[in-house]
Amino acid sequence: MVISHSSSGPGESAYNTFSSRYARVELPRYRMPENSIPKETAYQMITDELMLDGNPRLDLASFVTTWMEPECDKLIMDSINKNYVDMDEYPVTTELQNRCVNMIAHLFNAPINEDEKAIGVSTVGSSEAIMLAGLAFKRKWANKRKEEGKPYDKPNIVTGANVQVCWEKFARYFEVELKEVKLTEGYYVMDPLKAVEMVDENTICVAAILGSTLTGEYEDVKLLNDLLVEKNKETGWNVPIHVDAASGGFIAPFLHPELEWDFRLPLVKSINVSGHKYGLVYPGVGWVVWRSKDDLPEELIFHINYLGTDQPTFTLNFSKGASQIIAQYYQLIRLGFEGYKHIMENCQANAAVLREGMEATGRFSIVSKEDGVPLVAASLKDSTKFSVFDVSENLRKFGWIVPAYTMAPDAEHVAVLRVVIREDFSRSLAQRLLADINKVLHELDAHAAHAIKVTAPTATQNGNGVDGDDTVTQKSVLDTEKRFVAACMSLVKKNKKTGVC
Ligand SMILES: *Cc1c(COP(=O)(O)O)cnc(C)c1O
Repeated sequence: MVISHSSSGPGESAYNTFSSRYARVELPRYRMPENSIPKETAYQMITDELMLDGNPRLDLASFVTTWMEPECDKLIMDSINKNYVDMDEYPVTTELQNRCVNMIAHLFNAPINEDEKAIGVSTVGSSEAIMLAGLAFKRKWANKRKEEGKPYDKPNIVTGANVQVCWEKFARYFEVELKEVKLTEGYYVMDPLKAVEMVDENTICVAAILGSTLTGEYEDVKLLNDLLVEKNKETGWNVPIHVDAASGGFIAPFLHPELEWDFRLPLVKSINVSGHKYGLVYPGVGWVVWRSKDDLPEELIFHINYLGTDQPTFTLNFSKGASQIIAQYYQLIRLGFEGYKHIMENCQANAAVLREGMEATGRFSIVSKEDGVPLVAASLKDSTKFSVFDVSENLRKFGWIVPAYTMAPDAEHVAVLRVVIREDFSRSLAQRLLADINKVLHELDAHAAHAIKVTAPTATQNGNGVDGDDTVTQKSVLDTEKRFVAACMSLVKKNKKTGVC
């Protein structure tokens, strides 16, 4: 390795980072610098800047894993230099991926024998998994329409308006119309009756969510399946179901094994799950499994041989790290069914403590369901003095990242605060959060009581005439804060449906 010394003063290595000139210069932002810097300095400077990121463990906005056992951290570091796609070079890694696919397919009750290989693939997350599943449906539908001599240029998917943004991405990127069943106040998931009414001959699939991102509620996949079986019988169509089990896929099998949402239902042809959510692996790993070989059109699978033997691949990207797949295999065999069940039960119990504590304040209406993904989503009963956005903003002072957002159409007028309970959110943290929520509520009450009302000399002074009323309320500190939060939210929301993932 060649390290340039041209810009280092003589003996500079004798200084520590903060006594060197690097503490006095800005880190490059736009152009790669001409010269090298010492590795300790680069490490220190970047680490320091990263201190200003939030603490992932206190990020209660996300379902994504923020803690793994040290043994698994080690396993990840040991395999961080392996490329998943080099299947011939890393046949064991490929084998571990296939074992994960088999285990997940069995967990979802795929109709396969004990020693039969399941059909599925690892992805970067549920988003890639959903793109692949969507493409398979689109191609299958188009093939059938071609055979029948019918047009195949207007495919659509029926979903609830509560779908995660990746479905909208799929729709836009791959030119499929998204027909959304609107939500109503008090019912925040897709209504299967309305969904089936929206199905037509161009519907490539109905996508149901196991664990709505907004409230954690499971959609009624069984009812959807039964209604759709009827509709298909009446019309002669063959509209299938995809289940987006990004978060619920690793919860329902352990906490609600009797719930029929998976391949036990005949119309469910593919399911995705995020390995990096309740699969308990760091980001990014996801999975998609198909019911059978027939549900994945052969023409979407590419065969490559320039890395050695023939390798089938069905992914959007080519190279990616292998360590997340290895980490998933670690979790599956290390925890087993028993371990996952205990962790999910703990999450559920801690969610209950938080939910009860929030209810006890008398200020919140809980909109999440006890039987869904372990999270607490709540709206304020009285938002006249302050909103959930204020609560969210003020919790930041204590280090907590708790998002607030509005519901999907047609329930946008409902704003909620959401706390996701992950494995590493223990009882004592739940209790601390409750204490801090109570503090914030008291502070906001006090603030609201002090809001000052003054009489302005003339309302038209600033050009904003208020007809027939020359008294305006001066913006209180609270109002200013609210407007600031609203402005931030609108920036964040410009290209995003909600501020949550
Ligand atoms: C998180 C989530 C996604 C996107 O998953 P990624 O793994 O982050 O790509 C899709 N659907 C639902 C329901 C989700 O909760």
